[in-house]
Parts: sequence; C-alpha cells; structure tokens
Amino acid sequence: MSNYSTVKRFLAGAVCPRCEAGDAIVVYSRDERDFRECVECGFLDEMHFAPQARELDTRVSEAEADSSDEQVVKIMPFPTDRSR
Ligand SMILES: [Zn+2]
Repeated sequence: MSNYSTVKRFLAGAVCPRCEAGDAIVVYSRDERDFRECVECGFLDEMHFAPQARELDTRVSEAEADSSDEQVVKIMPFPTDRSR
C-alpha cells in the first residue's frame, strides 16, 4: 500500500531541495514505496512517511513476541515437494 499512484503527479507548491525549482516536484509510487522526483534536475528521494508500513512492522513484532517459536517453525515447511 502506498500513498500515491504509479502515475507521476506534480506536487503543488513543492520546491526542489537541490535546485530549488518551484512546482517541479512529482510524486509517485513504485514497489509500494513513495518517491518524489524533480523534473528539472533529476533529484530523486524516497519518502519515509508511510504510516501503513510502520503499523505493519509494529504488528509483526508484537505477534512474534506474543506467540511462541512453535508457530514460526510451522510456517516453514519445504514447499519443494508440491512443485515437482
Ligand atoms: Zn531539482
């Protein structure tokens, strides 16, 4: 899940931190990560404000701490038999 679509869209009012061009920043999502890019100088930056990813991390670590190691072991049978 990401905040932006894969289509690049201009971010109104954004100023490039490198070349300081106004209204030159586009935002888009790729591989479920959000990026901002300057169309003037090619500045590219990954944005780290995705709340969903952080939430997921918390949930996973809580589940690992809560449940015993048994469950983790059960999830890891070798699937190679089924593919042959
Ligand atoms: Zn720029």
